[in-house]
Amino acid sequence: MNSLPDAAEHTVKPTALIVHAHPEPQSFSNAQMRSARSSLQDQGYDVRTINLHENGWSPVLDRSGFPSASTYFKPQVEQMAAANAGALAPEVRADLDALFDADLLVLSFPLWWFSLPAILKGWIDRVFVMGAVFGGDHGLFDQAALAGHKAVLLITTGGSSDSFGEGSRFGVLDTHLFHIHFGMLRFVGYEVLEPIVTYGPAHLDADNRKAALSAIHDEFEQIATRSLLSFTSPA
Ligand SMILES: Cc1cc2nc3c(=O)[nH]c(=O)nc-3n(C[C@H](O)[C@H](O)[C@H](O)COP(=O)(O)OP(=O)(O)OC[C@H]3O[C@@H](n4cnc5c(N)ncnc54)[C@H](O)[C@@H]3O)c2cc1C
Repeated sequence: MNSLPDAAEHTVKPTALIVHAHPEPQSFSNAQMRSARSSLQDQGYDVRTINLHENGWSPVLDRSGFPSASTYFKPQVEQMAAANAGALAPEVRADLDALFDADLLVLSFPLWWFSLPAILKGWIDRVFVMGAVFGGDHGLFDQAALAGHKAVLLITTGGSSDSFGEGSRFGVLDTHLFHIHFGMLRFVGYEVLEPIVTYGPAHLDADNRKAALSAIHDEFEQIATRSLLSFTSPA
């Protein structure tokens, strides 16, 4: 699959998986996730949401997820063995199946330390299983198991839009996001769309927050034609 299916032209519904990571249900981040979700649903997407805080997701990749682990715990070796033996932890297996089912993955989170919150990083650690999504029978990048699927980051920031960009105080946001875009998503095969960002919602007045939520809805209406990021690596 090289492009997102146009929902209107397909009898089989395209699917989207939203993985959301904000500890406060009344946060702006949560509101923007709901706006994205309703936009995708309006276009005919079958949308599944994984709310990591609501689910009490454990972000720690350690031997507790691998009851038959060797004495010397080497995480990726154990992931491959468990993937091959059909012995992944049930919550990991379920989220992995949801990943494979989704034409579009949306990672929804507030920017924390120029990166993603630990609970979401830990979801990647545990669910991007070596031997299932890359490595083993799969390669990396276009040879990885999620090649042909698309992914997009849906973010809020503390800093205003003026504070990001070339020559600005916090620098270029895409530079900070490279480790996610390339090191996590592209690495396992995704084609990565330009991120969708609300800058500094806490500093906006009520009208501008409303407009920002509406803009998120509009951005997701255009998701099928959203630009892909390109990377200078040969991948
Ligand atoms: C550990 C940590 C590290 C951080 N690192 C960074 C960093 O590196 N760079 C950076 O820029 N920022 C950083 N931040 C700040 C963080 O990114 C922002 O606080 C966050 O992204 C703001 O989004 P929010 O959803 O949490 O906003 P909220 O504070 O939840 O919401 C903003 C306002 O919108 C209101 N609101 C909620 N829902 C609606 C709705 N439906 N309609 C209208 N208004 C609504 C809320 O009531 C609130 O008044 C960091 C924060 C933490 C905790």
